[in-house]
Amino acid sequence: MATLEYLSIKQAHDLLINKQVSAKELVQYYLDRIAKYDDKINACLFVRKKNALKQAEKVDAKIARGEEIGLLEGIPYTAKDMFLTAGVPTTAASKILRNFIPPHSATAINKLKSSGAILIAKVNQDEFAHGGSTENSAYKKTANPWNKNHVPGGSSGGSAAAVAADFGIFSLGTDTGGSIRQPASYCGVIGFKPTYGRVSRYGVVAMASSFDCIGPITRNAEDAEIVLHTIEGKDSMDSTTIESNSSDENTIENLTVGIAKEYDGDSMQTANDLLTSVGHTVKEIELPDSELALAAYYVLVPSEISSNLERYDGIRYGARAKATSLNETYTKTRDEFFGPEVKRRNMIGTYSLSAGYYDAYYEKAMQVRTLLCKQFNELFKMCDVIVTPTTLSPAFAFGAKTDPLQMYKEDILTVSSNLAGVPAISIPIGFDEATKLPLGLHIIGRQGEDTTVLALAKQIQANSDWHQRRPKL
Ligand code: GLN
Repeated sequence: MATLEYLSIKQAHDLLINKQVSAKELVQYYLDRIAKYDDKINACLFVRKKNALKQAEKVDAKIARGEEIGLLEGIPYTAKDMFLTAGVPTTAASKILRNFIPPHSATAINKLKSSGAILIAKVNQDEFAHGGSTENSAYKKTANPWNKNHVPGGSSGGSAAAVAADFGIFSLGTDTGGSIRQPASYCGVIGFKPTYGRVSRYGVVAMASSFDCIGPITRNAEDAEIVLHTIEGKDSMDSTTIESNSSDENTIENLTVGIAKEYDGDSMQTANDLLTSVGHTVKEIELPDSELALAAYYVLVPSEISSNLERYDGIRYGARAKATSLNETYTKTRDEFFGPEVKRRNMIGTYSLSAGYYDAYYEKAMQVRTLLCKQFNELFKMCDVIVTPTTLSPAFAFGAKTDPLQMYKEDILTVSSNLAGVPAISIPIGFDEATKLPLGLHIIGRQGEDTTVLALAKQIQANSDWHQRRPKL
């Protein structure tokens, strides 16, 4: 049998159509890998063995009949536990959804299913996607495959770790303030957050609805593009979705690339040299005020969280605490089954939305959001894309950021693109000398120009090999 380690979508597809491997063998390969290594990595919350193999058999039968198969047919993937998956447990890594089995699937999951991709596992995350290390999961701590004493990032830490550890060919994540890009950066893989509204949020556990984006975590930019074009598009179940012209073949000759002068580490120098060598013009720019953006984010997002999480009342979904009255049911359930970070955000949000504080916090933060969008529009008149590091430092050790504010500061470079709704990707750009952990390059594009961002990522990959390095498990 052909070697199956770290396949891309295209490579796996070629092996399938050339009958060098069957879809069943492919699924079994990932199930075996999960069985062998996941007690060290702890990425998976639920592994879907029987049904995944059954789905693979159908693909094999199709190939045996000589029928053509699509690019994603028979391709095994994992999904963050934020995605509703019919008949498959969905917990959002919270105790409050401990026994929740959804009756229907998210649009993105349905689209992948129709294209023949095979869901093999639901993976770990911070509870309700609140966090940046996956340490807030109510179930377990996922390790960074590059160094198991370090976090994989978050909140889609399980997804990034699963892709880096080869527990599936790609993963689906969610990004409200960096949760696809930051873990991708920490784990040495690719994470793409599309333009807000490009991918339907229907059937994805809501965090902050005007920020939440759905996107792929992959091992190369081509795969990210394939997955994006499969899950994007207008959805009658999510009124914020937009029609996307996925056929746009964006030419990326001589782009003007804005590089922020305040971030001038080694990885930025590497990026600068690489971009110039392939014919782009690099220009120093001043980024919109990142500290203001972070402050606005941590008012607006908890506000939306406090409204979205009202539905977890012990009546409609999941766990219910023992209580003697209706009010006690609400309060005891939320007290017993929400973790500390979820409670903190609910309290901050409720506070900043309440009469008397609304003007001082929520409204002010909304003004900052508008200002930031304007600043991005101005910047995008001067350059086609903006690059920064994805994070200020590589993956940190478990327990290193116990103060919530320290953890929030990790998001300083990623939240702006969610406030402005623009597309952004993180791709590997080398390794930190001291820790030997992966570093990520963050490319931000104009609203709707997702394919430009992806095309540039592909070009950088064609001229480097950081995305091909693998951790020893
Ligand atoms: N780390 C950020 C936060 O805690 C981002 C979370 C996310 O994108 N889901 O809010």
